[in-house]
Amino acid sequence: MTAPTPETLSRLKAALGPGGWSDDPVVLAPLLHEWRGRYEGGTPLLARPSSTTGVAEVVRICAETGTAVVPQGGNTGLVGGQIPTGAEILLSLTRMTRIGPPDTVNNTLEVQAGAVLQTVQQAAEAAERRFPLSLASEGSATIGGLISTNAGGVHVLRYGSMRDLVLGLEAVLPDGRVWSGLTGLRKDNRGPDLKLLFIGAEGTLGIVTAATLKLFPRPADRAVAFVAVPSVEAALRLLRLAEEKAGGDISAFELMPRIGLDFVLRHMPDTRDPLKTRAPWYVLADVETARPGAADTLTAILETGAERGWLSDGVIAASAAQEAELWRLRESLSEVQKQEGGSIKHDISVPVSRMADFIRRASAAVEAACPGARPVPFGHLGDGNVHFNISQPLTEDMGRDRTAFLARWEEIAQIVHAIALELGGSISAEHGIGRMKRDELARTDPLRAELIRRLKQALDPKGIMNPGKVV
Ligand SMILES: Cc1cc2nc3c(=O)[nH]c(=O)nc-3n(C[C@H](O)[C@H](O)[C@H](O)COP(=O)(O)OP(=O)(O)OC[C@H]3O[C@@H](n4cnc5c(N)ncnc54)[C@H](O)[C@@H]3O)c2cc1C
Repeated sequence: MTAPTPETLSRLKAALGPGGWSDDPVVLAPLLHEWRGRYEGGTPLLARPSSTTGVAEVVRICAETGTAVVPQGGNTGLVGGQIPTGAEILLSLTRMTRIGPPDTVNNTLEVQAGAVLQTVQQAAEAAERRFPLSLASEGSATIGGLISTNAGGVHVLRYGSMRDLVLGLEAVLPDGRVWSGLTGLRKDNRGPDLKLLFIGAEGTLGIVTAATLKLFPRPADRAVAFVAVPSVEAALRLLRLAEEKAGGDISAFELMPRIGLDFVLRHMPDTRDPLKTRAPWYVLADVETARPGAADTLTAILETGAERGWLSDGVIAASAAQEAELWRLRESLSEVQKQEGGSIKHDISVPVSRMADFIRRASAAVEAACPGARPVPFGHLGDGNVHFNISQPLTEDMGRDRTAFLARWEEIAQIVHAIALELGGSISAEHGIGRMKRDELARTDPLRAELIRRLKQALDPKGIMNPGKVV
């Protein structure tokens, strides 16, 4: 990969116009730094086009001159995919934020790729509809980034991931042509579903510029419970019981270990333990119903669960403020791990029935390899997806030992991934591959990596779209 020549940069700047680009180090700095601090990058130019035509013009110049492009949305991705390594131009979609208007008969909403998820949720809400994707980064993550990582979040159990929520999309191809697949059709069998090529491609096959999203009716009622459970097995029994009693109304079923709750209570101001007794595991369950009565449904689930010994304590939020308090415990989990020293992170999935086995085996294997290491598995239990994060052992000099602990990332990841794969799982449930897991993907599934490479070769023969990411 070679850096663009001064002539190429001049052409790009002229095409973008004043306000459409920057090479000011102060402007660039936050965009070249990944949220977790794992990746720092560099770029000769930030391009900020304001329209699809503008994106297409930039990509056309890049294709002609062999200049590499890294698309970026809200820079909340967790695998380094959005960070350029030095020679690529950084193409930010954050000026392309147009939303709607919603089509409340078709239940769809057309948005530009730079629209922030929270704003999209609000636009749906204003039309008395719901866009159900929800995750802790929703105040910054953009629709283009969420599509490109096939983001999941806390409501996959009920609504699916981004792949299930996108009906159509528009993308600028690596040669600068625009493929317009924006459609609100729920049935369209004109050959293979091309939009799926771009969902989860992490910007390696083209640049998503707009999408048609599915909207849903707003639930009439909601109830949230925080429940202490004796084991992961018990939590899963409770999930199936909840489905029996509430059908499709269970919209989130999240797992937290006691150590994670302790981290939150220690480091997050204004938090408190909602229950009186300690338990090894907790579940945060969300029920949303089309008619009033969500709390009654949840109460019935908890009563039967308690009779069967699948929970030892629990509380149902009595107000919206309490619901938010309970959710804050769960959503602070990523943040508070930073306060506990180095954290080696895994985003794995296994079939739901194998999750207890996975957590038990992976915890034992990690503790054997690194005595004192503290596993903090948490997340989307209902989807068979936990973030199997491991905090460094407690020592006298945490700062010094942090570096030595993090140096073991690849070794520990291989141990954890081997167990997930043996149980029929995946090394990336929802965050993608990016730079972080590129070599691990090739090592653990070489044929998959080869097929992705062939696909990329077909669509991007010059290899200018986000090179070095995914494959
Ligand atoms: C606190 C926190 C919690 C999170 N929780 C979850 C969670 O529960 N579930 C989950 O799935 N994820 C979660 N994430 C990660 C999630 O992947 C990102 O939040 C989001 O999907 C990325 O959106 P973004 O706009 O920030 O994209 P970026 O970070 O800017 O980019 C992500 C990737 O997409 C590419 N890209 C960006 N925009 C485009 C575009 N328009 N066209 C083509 N490629 C593009 C980039 O090149 C990069 O490879 C979390 C992140 C944080 C920080």
